[in-house]
Amino acid sequence: MYNNKFRLFRNEVVLSFLMIILLTFQQAFAWGDEGHKLINKKAVDFLPPDMKAFSQWCDYLSEHAPDPDYRKKTDKTEAPKHFIDIDFYKEFLDGNMIENEDSLFNEYGKSEVVKNGLLPWATLETFNNLTKAFKDHNKNDALRYAADLGHYVADGHQPMHTVVNYNGQLTDQKGVHARYEINMVDDHLTDLENCFEPVASPFVNHPLEFIFNYISAANSVCGVLFDADNLAFKECSSRRSNEYYRLMWFRTGYITEVQFNRAAEDLASLIYTAWVNAGKPSFNQMK
Ligand SMILES: [Zn+2]
Repeated sequence: MYNNKFRLFRNEVVLSFLMIILLTFQQAFAWGDEGHKLINKKAVDFLPPDMKAFSQWCDYLSEHAPDPDYRKKTDKTEAPKHFIDIDFYKEFLDGNMIENEDSLFNEYGKSEVVKNGLLPWATLETFNNLTKAFKDHNKNDALRYAADLGHYVADGHQPMHTVVNYNGQLTDQKGVHARYEINMVDDHLTDLENCFEPVASPFVNHPLEFIFNYISAANSVCGVLFDADNLAFKECSSRRSNEYYRLMWFRTGYITEVQFNRAAEDLASLIYTAWVNAGKPSFNQMK
């Protein structure tokens, strides 16, 4: 009896441990590798006609879309660049977010700001690096920064990368982050592949404001995802079954398709803006 109990307990411990490893592993990859690759690949279709030559870079952009997630393993400064718990800030809740990084450091202290994520400023820095690479006709740097920019823009469209309750930890919905962005998304890659409706992306006058706008939009749909998780659980008493995932997609598929579309469009806008600001360099002359 004791042995059986002990064995059961031991199995539970091992199982919990494996779940923690699995969850940690999964959380390292926002939208999953495949979601990131898809957004980077499709962004090319949203570029205005005068930048069509950029489409020759499409394969590189797609292949290297997940790179920033892998950098987290070797670079300790990388992890905070992938999210912002923007509803932590009372200014955001009041509709007056402090967008300047130094002003926010002054108000909250640098370590608190880093703890809540640096996604908007990491995106801006990568955009500025891309502009410089275009100006310098430096093809390798331009490729690298364009792929990285795609990653950060895509993270900024993943609602759970923009919220304090990023894993449902405050509402008894732990694990919702990976259930949504990896398990559900990977099951619907074909739907997502076919959801894009390309339009010519507009030039961006104020990049940081633009970045904050799409992050705020992503944050505003978090409630739909948390509600869908609760409703699906209520109806099938499980957060792992096929039925749970069917219901999750039923209730969040539309929003997810909108977010994928907007990510590709907004990425194309930023790449186009970097290229225009750099003086529209010829792709044939880049080395
Ligand atoms: Zn990421």
